[in-house]
Amino acid sequence: MKFCPRCGTLMAPRRENEQVVYVCPKCGHREGAAGAGDVASRVLVTTIKHSEKEKLVVIESNMEEKLLPKTRIQCPRCSHDEAYYWVVQTRRADEPPTRFYKCTKCGHVWREYD
Ligand SMILES: [Zn+2]
Ligand SMILES: [Zn+2]
Repeated sequence: MKFCPRCGTLMAPRRENEQVVYVCPKCGHREGAAGAGDVASRVLVTTIKHSEKEKLVVIESNMEEKLLPKTRIQCPRCSHDEAYYWVVQTRRADEPPTRFYKCTKCGHVWREYD
């Protein structure tokens, strides 16, 4: 749905040269399908969000354990009392980062909720 910026009439989409243009039936005003740009930026945002999520999964499963610091905390799965830990900024920058743990014995990964 697109309205003419000049007279406010509902413009009709028309296919011209493999492109969609909107033409006002009242005053003849023509406009390119500006909505295409919006769709493109929306797709881009979705892609970025998706890859951030994937990055997080990678961090959770393939973290270089040798480089990680250890802390004394009880594993919820096997009750072992030592785990590697790392911190991930999963939400907005003004919120505190989430701490993840990985049991040094059974490899179970869990996150600390605040
Ligand atoms: Zn018009
Ligand atoms: Zn464990």
